[in-house]
Amino acid sequence: MAGTLYLVPTPIGNLGDISRRMADTLEAADFIAAEDTRVTLKLLNHLGLKKPLFSYYRHNTQEAGEAVLERLLAGESCALVTDAGTPAISDPGEDLVALCAANGVAVVSIPGPCALVTALAASGLPTGRFTFEGFLPMNKKNRRAQLAALAGEGRTMVFYEAPHKLSATLSDLAQALGGERRVALCRELTKLHEEIVRTTLAQAAERYAREEPRGEFVLVVEGAAPRQEEADPGAALERMAELRGQGYSLRQASRLAGEEFGLAKNELYALWLKNSGIDDKK
Ligand code: SAM
Repeated sequence: MAGTLYLVPTPIGNLGDISRRMADTLEAADFIAAEDTRVTLKLLNHLGLKKPLFSYYRHNTQEAGEAVLERLLAGESCALVTDAGTPAISDPGEDLVALCAANGVAVVSIPGPCALVTALAASGLPTGRFTFEGFLPMNKKNRRAQLAALAGEGRTMVFYEAPHKLSATLSDLAQALGGERRVALCRELTKLHEEIVRTTLAQAAERYAREEPRGEFVLVVEGAAPRQEEADPGAALERMAELRGQGYSLRQASRLAGEEFGLAKNELYALWLKNSGIDDKK
């Protein structure tokens, strides 16, 4: 029977975020596929564990993925860890999970640290609906197209960015989405110098044009304001006629239809009277 691929999240800074289940899973796995074996070795030393490590990183996903799959199909279990956070979220783990899924190998995802969720939760921006954008493309054309597609996005947007590209990204975001947009700059989460700066895109771009960013950042950007739908008084008046037919008074019908269509009740009331040839100023 085929083994299981375990996705094991690791701390994004604070070793206190290691969970019991994470340590137990690393201990129980036959081998660990790691993005950077040196980083993972430090973690294993911290946990007092010794395990065979297998290197699985962005530039060898094809061959290494096949090799891991073969071992899984032969019945071994594998714990996948990346440098920090949840494997498969903006890191090469994504390809290995897809390969396992395509080959009927069970994948168990252990919950744990993830920079995007940690940042979003603390951003102070709406969390009910959001979109994770990861890293913006570096290719100019693709980047422009992606930013243009996001200009009208109403959901909160979460971006990852490397410190040396932060200034350019903030300025591109300000230009594409508007400088007044609110942004939470979530820096060095769970670490000693953790900082959350809630500001606007224009101010953030201006700050980091002058100052060198230090540490890791997640950007949480406010969604676009909802577009005012063209209010349709005609449909609202039809609705009022319906309500009047059901016995509602003109005032009640104006209020109810106003709420439904996003129109002012007084305007609807006046419009009704005007259409009926009654001047309410008389
Ligand atoms: N798989 C990881 C996760 O679950 O969050 C993300 C990996 S991605 C290659 C690395 C990016 O995550 C960084 O460039 C940064 O945007 C963000 N990041 C990771 N750790 C962070 C931290 N402690 N504080 C802020 N951002 C962090």
